[in-house]
Amino acid sequence: MLKERGVPDFPGMLKPRNRNTIASMKSVLKIENLCVAVAGKPILKGVDLEIRQGEIHALMGPNGSGKSTLAYVLMGHPKYEITDGLVTIDGINILELEPDARARLGLFLAFQYPVTIPGVKVADFLRHAISNVRNPDRKEGEGLIPMREFRKELKSKMDELGMDPDFARRYLNEGFSGGEKKRMEILQLAMLRPKFAILDETDSGLDSDAVRFVSESLSRLIGPDMAVVIITHHERLLEFNKPQQTHVILAGRIVENGDASLAHELHDQGYAGVRSRHPEVAAEEQQPDASPLQAAAPAAPA
Ligand code: ADP
Ligand code: MG
Repeated sequence: MLKERGVPDFPGMLKPRNRNTIASMKSVLKIENLCVAVAGKPILKGVDLEIRQGEIHALMGPNGSGKSTLAYVLMGHPKYEITDGLVTIDGINILELEPDARARLGLFLAFQYPVTIPGVKVADFLRHAISNVRNPDRKEGEGLIPMREFRKELKSKMDELGMDPDFARRYLNEGFSGGEKKRMEILQLAMLRPKFAILDETDSGLDSDAVRFVSESLSRLIGPDMAVVIITHHERLLEFNKPQQTHVILAGRIVENGDASLAHELHDQGYAGVRSRHPEVAAEEQQPDASPLQAAAPAAPA
């Protein structure tokens, strides 16, 4: 088992560790040379990232650079073909696992475009999701966390987040505004407390109240046990949640890594500087919707 995960079996490895060591161990999500194609077209071309529990990372990059692709691949969307590379959580290769098994290892993805599930109420959805994560061996229809316990927990989280209790009785994502979808994500994060949350934000469509709610709630939720990768163009989200690391992706490659000041610079100046520092990568950018506004961008090869 250990060998399969690429861990050499030193004789000392199986010695019982003391409790303190285990409690202080940080889980690590490691992405190595990840290459992904969609419909035969290479999208991610060797992405490396290492995220430790408790860290805040910002992932930024122009439209079409592969940010959402990375998020979907991490969660196990079947559309994406992994052509090379590895993604592990604490040495376990997650690329071979179903999405629910990944969730049990502590991974959470907030979708950029969440689906509507007619007939399922917010509270029911959350009760099932939490039961699945906390009680991995449960069979369908069994082992749901007790209603009373669940209600209490839900109420306390919703109070903490300043959410209207009626929200839990709404049907999941049905007629939700952009801001309400974000509230739903935050509530899921608060209830599930994943080790690694990937938040793929829409570039627009959120009013400033919604952005403030997400930003402030996130800052309250993030702690030593939760890492967050924020895919965003809203600097406000990062203002309250200052990233230790900022990564810039261009045409499927991470071309720059920095701290919060890099996120600030990109927000201020856009990606022209990044493109000019990496002309050979910028030349690989696809511009299917090239418009006169983009005429100043470096020309892509035909
Ligand atoms: P970002 O989130 O950075 O804007 P995406 O990951 O959504 O970028 O897209 C990266 C590239 O992958 C784009 O060129 C996009 O057109 C392409 N792509 C994504 N999904 C599909 C798909 N289902 N079929 C074909 N191309 C796709
Ligand atoms: Mg996207």
